[in-house]
Amino acid sequence: MNDTIVACSTPQGKGAIAVVRMSGMRAGEILAGVLDIKIGDPRKSPRKLCRRWLVDENKNKLDEVLVVFFPAPNTYTGEEMVEIHCHGGEGIVEVVMEEMLKAGARPAKKGEFTRRSFESGKMDLSKAEGVLRLINAATKDEVKGAAKLLSGEFGALLKTLRKDMMVGLARLEAAIDFPDDVDEVEQGTQGIGSMLDKAQKIEKSIRKDSQLEHDIVLAGRPNVGKSSLMNALAERKISIVTREPGTTRDAIHTMILLNGLRINIVDTAGLMLRELSSEAERESELVAKEKIKDASVLLWVMDFSEGDFEKQKSMLPLPVQPTMYIVNKVDLARSDQVEHVHSIQDEGKMMFVSAKTGQGLEKLKMKISDTLIEEYGPASGIPVSMRQKDMICRVKESLEQAGQRMRAKQIELAAEDLKAAITETNCILGESLEAEDILDVIFSEFCIGK
Ligand code: GDP
Repeated sequence: MNDTIVACSTPQGKGAIAVVRMSGMRAGEILAGVLDIKIGDPRKSPRKLCRRWLVDENKNKLDEVLVVFFPAPNTYTGEEMVEIHCHGGEGIVEVVMEEMLKAGARPAKKGEFTRRSFESGKMDLSKAEGVLRLINAATKDEVKGAAKLLSGEFGALLKTLRKDMMVGLARLEAAIDFPDDVDEVEQGTQGIGSMLDKAQKIEKSIRKDSQLEHDIVLAGRPNVGKSSLMNALAERKISIVTREPGTTRDAIHTMILLNGLRINIVDTAGLMLRELSSEAERESELVAKEKIKDASVLLWVMDFSEGDFEKQKSMLPLPVQPTMYIVNKVDLARSDQVEHVHSIQDEGKMMFVSAKTGQGLEKLKMKISDTLIEEYGPASGIPVSMRQKDMICRVKESLEQAGQRMRAKQIELAAEDLKAAITETNCILGESLEAEDILDVIFSEFCIGK
């Protein structure tokens, strides 16, 4: 923590400018040592952009830069900080970095600036993770979700819940000490009910961050129209469509945006579901089965012209959740079959579409995005890691259990549940993380310079 760290905070490569940042006790001093400060020391003009020449030890001019000096403690890391805006070339950045390192700074590790900010109490862990999520956001909805973390909205929700739980715990402890006070027990039970509501609301507002990209896998027997469906969903030709079965061997994929969700449509080889003759066939079925297993949502595609939909449905070799059953080529339905189609569709078990005419495709897209939102949270949901998601789940479960125990008049046990939920909430906020390695894991996801 005493070292002064330096890193280039902008991406590698050529650009108009690059920004090199330094943080630590000696940041200002190191900066002054590598600049021509005849016209003034930037430390005397804090938080102002100053134009200076970067020079080497022999006063050779290296680059004309803009620098800012930020005195501690009102900075991103809480420490003294410096920003150098140099020209954006790899050689220039290397020279700037080299001068800082020679003067006594050391290269920053991944996420080290944000970690220092967290460790100096500038931001709680959920806010620190918000920085990472914002950098990784690829759509406006994702930006909005990440901003809720960064702005502290998520942290504030958790802190309100924690406060309620602490008040509730105090009340339960009073009820344990004065068992005759019926009011305390009554209020305690009600209180837990409203805490549970809050926890459920938090759970609904989040989105599993590891699922920012969803694999929608199209699988089915050969020639049912998987490739045609992929092209229709992507609205461009990605996959080859032929009358001959078995044209798609490798899994083919393409990215589309659906209601702000990033969706990777994957077309797989048709599953013959019989003894396979060639090595290539066996291999392509293996690839297809792997994709089916890892799907965020599986679309099991069937063929209208083959009839017996229940039988086709049962051919899915490995059931996965969630699966949508799609009957393609509904354009081939005769007029006397239309009513039957409607009645099956209304039961909600299958969807009838036509890759050829586009019939039912809008409905299918809606259903895919609804399913994803139900499973993984809304596009603009607060992006949380699996770690946080699991912890929120456990808070909710502890509260549910506390409620049941209150109803069974097991007040001591309910108090224990509340304590567990409070500890879990502290963990989400990063306030009771004893293990350094959890922090290491979180910050290692960051890029260098952040
Ligand atoms: P895959 O093997 O499952 O990928 O199937 P393809 O997309 O290659 O399609 C197989 C055959 O079915 C081709 O001759 C397509 O033109 C035809 N096909 C695909 N979708 C439809 C559809 O919605 N309606 C009709 N009538 N034919 C279709």
